Amino acid sequence: MRSLITLVLVLMALKPVYATVIRKEFSERMTFPFEGGGYKIRGVPRNVIYLTIDDGPSPQGTPAMLDILEDHQVSATFFVHGNQAERRPHLLERMYREGHLVANHSYSHVLDFPSSSSFVNSLMVTHNIITPYIAPEGVLLYRAPGGVWNDWRSRNGNNHSTLRRYVGPLFWNVGGGSPNRQDDADWKCWRRGNGVTVNACADSYYQQILSNYKKGQASLVLLHDIRDLSAKLVDRLVRRLKRDGIDWEFRLADDMPIVREYANK
Ligand SMILES: [Zn+2]
Repeated sequence: MRSLITLVLVLMALKPVYATVIRKEFSERMTFPFEGGGYKIRGVPRNVIYLTIDDGPSPQGTPAMLDILEDHQVSATFFVHGNQAERRPHLLERMYREGHLVANHSYSHVLDFPSSSSFVNSLMVTHNIITPYIAPEGVLLYRAPGGVWNDWRSRNGNNHSTLRRYVGPLFWNVGGGSPNRQDDADWKCWRRGNGVTVNACADSYYQQILSNYKKGQASLVLLHDIRDLSAKLVDRLVRRLKRDGIDWEFRLADDMPIVREYANK
């Protein structure tokens, strides 16, 4: 019993050391932490909204999303998959031409990479596909599928001559998909039969953004362009935002001071 207590005490003493090691790993360039482990984006006013749109480009969702963004004169950051992008270069071309930002979301949506080379290849193949649609001096951004990230990925990214120029993974603070909520992520309003409508999801996104605003935080919003329902959600959300008297401002993800800081390292 005494040895067990000793072991627990030793582990408790080691915990801060372990945490420091992880933090050091994550302080490499290829990472994007929120400030202080919370959800605040340093140096960004609370009226700023970053729309980030993942998993496309798809014929079902992307043209509709681009149309809605164009209607409202709003810019967004698209985290695309290589396997979708290589089949639809015209949609990447349209994103680029219409002032959106094209970014890397790996080749497909696998959450687990069995080897260093599979991780590097997934990102590099995508990198080569999207490069023509990124401004020559543009910031390279990465978002991990499912937000899954660890020190192994950070190390492999930073050890690669091209990937180490990336800033990522970019997390989010709106549209997260809490297990306790039915309407807090756009994919929840795609499901049939659960009673969640696009309007309910749009209203939930609005409340999440407003809650960030009240806490003094800018919003980094997660959406997807694989169903046209998400475009409808954005339409309703932007209309709602325009009505509330707050001076909302939409920006591209490469505008964040922390992203620029990492990109220039
Ligand atoms: Zn994704």
